[in-house]
Amino acid sequence: MDTALPIEYHHKAYMESIPKDKLKRLAHIKRFAELLVGDPDFRQDLQENHQNTHIVAQKYHLEINIDHLRSFWHRAYMPKRRSKEEYLHSPLTVEWDIHLKNIRDHRDRMKTQNNIASKNEAFQLWRTRQLLRCDDTLAASAQGITHPSFAFELSEGCTVGCWFCGIAADKFKGYFAYTKDNQKLWQDMLYTLVNIFGVDTVKTAFCYWATDPSDNPDYASFIADFHHITNFLPQTTTARPVKDIAWTRKILSLYERYKCVFNRFSITTLSQLKAVHKNFTAEELIGTELVMQHKQALSSSCGKSPSGRVLQNIAKLKAAGKDIDKIKNDLKLNDEHTTIACVSGFLINPLTKTIKLVSPRASGLTYPLGYKVHEIKTFTSIESFRESIYQLIEQHMPTHMPNHYRIAFNKGIKGQLLNSGFQLIAQLRTLNINSYTDAEKIGQYLLSEHNKNKPYKLALKELIQSGCNIFSACDILQSLYQYGVFEDE
Ligand code: SF4
Repeated sequence: MDTALPIEYHHKAYMESIPKDKLKRLAHIKRFAELLVGDPDFRQDLQENHQNTHIVAQKYHLEINIDHLRSFWHRAYMPKRRSKEEYLHSPLTVEWDIHLKNIRDHRDRMKTQNNIASKNEAFQLWRTRQLLRCDDTLAASAQGITHPSFAFELSEGCTVGCWFCGIAADKFKGYFAYTKDNQKLWQDMLYTLVNIFGVDTVKTAFCYWATDPSDNPDYASFIADFHHITNFLPQTTTARPVKDIAWTRKILSLYERYKCVFNRFSITTLSQLKAVHKNFTAEELIGTELVMQHKQALSSSCGKSPSGRVLQNIAKLKAAGKDIDKIKNDLKLNDEHTTIACVSGFLINPLTKTIKLVSPRASGLTYPLGYKVHEIKTFTSIESFRESIYQLIEQHMPTHMPNHYRIAFNKGIKGQLLNSGFQLIAQLRTLNINSYTDAEKIGQYLLSEHNKNKPYKLALKELIQSGCNIFSACDILQSLYQYGVFEDE
């Protein structure tokens, strides 16, 4: 695989390098895995026919030898999973593992793509600070977040109403139709963003948030435009893949054409899983991950976060005197999974004509949806859209620490003095500040409970009054600001 390929060709090059017969086999292994994880009837059939697996294969239209996947499902072979001799008894499991590794490599590459420097320096520095702050404060969610810079909502609200909706989407109110005027506004918005931030930054976007793509019948036209302008087809995740089969087929055919990134169907009920399998062949879904959210699934490929609607429901159950720990356990909720909000940047809705500057936060009383809205701007035309974006950058993304900025460390950062300076320790990083004049004295000041929360200007003044070198104090504080160690509240 050529790792120098631009991101839009990377996944396509891999998928198209797979010979047709192997691709078909992989599609059927994938379906087998979905059935095994998601369908209790299948599991029972397999158990009852474990010596005659061809009966199961025939019933579920699996064109593979299930015996060659023994280390996935057979009690006698499961302990031999990933052993040296696995290839001998479960060659298809090994083949699947190699495929999955390629898919994971692509995901890592996507993450790297999101980190390509933006053309706009102020945004680039702001985003980097947000990423580093998230690493310190989001517990287990920190490493899974890819920090796209934009999300577009092409409707208002959502018809689906999942009980676990981490961002508590409102009721559906309407969608942004692909009229001539709207098409022009959409394309102009994308060109404007490419112009301000650079195409690589815009490529990180996706076109849903507290919305489901299937609520917009014209969604495929919008993402086709997105591809036309950025050369990248954004990922589609939908919880309604069988609501309108023709709509879903349009999305699948765009994937088939461009193969930029895997799509996802969110499976919320067992009947939905069965309907997906009935309406789409294994081969058609080779590029679509089924995210099992339903209660019969053996494991969820997507952890649920106690945020948004989950938080609201937990509060109601708590008020009713229910055993919250048991409920959380039953629902596979993980307190360490602090947020599902991944965007560090702009949440844009061309229907409501709003732009929100957002960044991920640990959900709780202050941020029940798992993200902070720094400010909301509205726009009425492409000119005011551009103006609003620039205003958000100017007002919220100072390239140097402003005088009023408070020097409170992120929650989760612990500090200690060293012989020649001080050290800051968080869950994913350690910073040693020791190569500056007076670093130890400055560390003493910053780590003192008394000085926590003081504005930058006052802190600098007091440090200088106490005899610290002015350049050193300034350098240390400004560098720590760029390293995102101070709270951004
Ligand atoms: S999780 Fe997605 S599909 Fe479900 S209610 Fe929220 S926005 Fe809608």
